[in-house]
Amino acid sequence: MSAPLQAVRGMNDILPAEACWWLDFEAIVRGWLARHGYRNIRMPLVEPTQLFRRAVGESTDIVEKEMYSWRDELNGEDLTLRPEATASCVRAAIEHHLLHDGPKRLWYAGPMYRHERPQKGRYRQFHQYGVEALGFAGPDADAELIVMCAALWDELGLGGIRLELNTIGSSLERMRYRAALIAHLERHADQLDADAKRRMHSNPLRVLDSKNPQVQAVVQSAPPLMEYLGDASLGHFAELKRLLAAAGVGYSISPRLVRGLDYYNLTVFEWVSDRLGAQGTVCGGGRYDGLFEQLGGKPAPAAGFAMGIERLIALMQEAGREPRDAPPDAYVVHQGEGAVQAALKIARELRCAGFAVIQHCGGGSFKSQMKRADASGAKLALIVGEDELKAGEVTVKPLREARAQARVPLARLAAEFPHLCKQRT
Ligand code: ATP
Ligand code: MG
Repeated sequence: MSAPLQAVRGMNDILPAEACWWLDFEAIVRGWLARHGYRNIRMPLVEPTQLFRRAVGESTDIVEKEMYSWRDELNGEDLTLRPEATASCVRAAIEHHLLHDGPKRLWYAGPMYRHERPQKGRYRQFHQYGVEALGFAGPDADAELIVMCAALWDELGLGGIRLELNTIGSSLERMRYRAALIAHLERHADQLDADAKRRMHSNPLRVLDSKNPQVQAVVQSAPPLMEYLGDASLGHFAELKRLLAAAGVGYSISPRLVRGLDYYNLTVFEWVSDRLGAQGTVCGGGRYDGLFEQLGGKPAPAAGFAMGIERLIALMQEAGREPRDAPPDAYVVHQGEGAVQAALKIARELRCAGFAVIQHCGGGSFKSQMKRADASGAKLALIVGEDELKAGEVTVKPLREARAQARVPLARLAAEFPHLCKQRT
């Protein structure tokens, strides 16, 4: 026999015991999105490679080394498994003229693919919920996005997620800053690592968020980007800070937060937890006013964020929450001539009345069926045997409490079932 196959490294199965956490998380997130007036959009997992090259940027980690790209020889196209979905969302908004009648609030969810070194909190297939406010220019939209994140952490029961905030100004302002930053980095080139040296000229801002302590020391003494911003950028940031203060959302200004993607301008932010080790960022976002134009659309301001589901679920588990993994109400056991037909009918009737019912499959002795009933976690076993069939009844046996079993006429079962289910001590 050949060896069993395994999932691709960094791409995980989410087994039922884990998936119930995901269902809980998704139910909360979807309610929260609906209550904020955001509408769902679904884009393909595969996009033209060019989309990410143009949107995310050539000299970013994602485009330089993390994308799953290939050439589709049949169509002569260069394709990529999406590493993120803001680019796809904006591509779709342009392609379908979504902003023709005004701004749009949108959300998407699903898997993203990045060829990174797999470790706790970092996978090659991971999942995001993304929220995009398209066509909104003001700091009020930035505040809405950030305040809604804070509301979600509360709903998820997660404390200790702190907000790091920065502004990176306009591309013109960054261009002016770039020269000053490069000059500073060149003066300290001997203290930079290979990555920083390589980026110093292609994407010097990325050197600011290097994790290497020696590079950080150089960065600490670099001229601050904030000093290169004009009144409009500073005014936008000041208003955002006022709105956050009014909403009671605390933050710390993180001058070296520039985010890994090139499309951002003005506001950038990250939500970070100390409880997840090195992979502590659970959500990141910002404003990207240039992206529509960069992708060939009519210029439109926009802002958004994406959160990592795996990291947020890890936090929920760490916070000691219990997932709602509801056991079935009943498990139908059946034996004898005509019993399976009766069992099917009973199960169907109860499901129509809104109860969760598992119907035994695969035959076996009464004892083995009862074992399965017990293992299912069901509150009640419904027993359909020859005696019961003759009498037109079913035996209802409580599985989780010491209460006597009872015979109930089939005709009354659905009506009495709520009562039978509820009799729990
Ligand atoms: P990091 O600095 O951790 O690599 P990032 O800046 O690359 O994150 P974003 O592109 O901003 O991440 O994606 C938003 C969120 O998606 C992150 O804050 C994180 O929660 C999650 N995320 C990103 N990459 C991964 C990954 N490889 N595995 C799991 N979650 C991820
Ligand atoms: Mg990354």
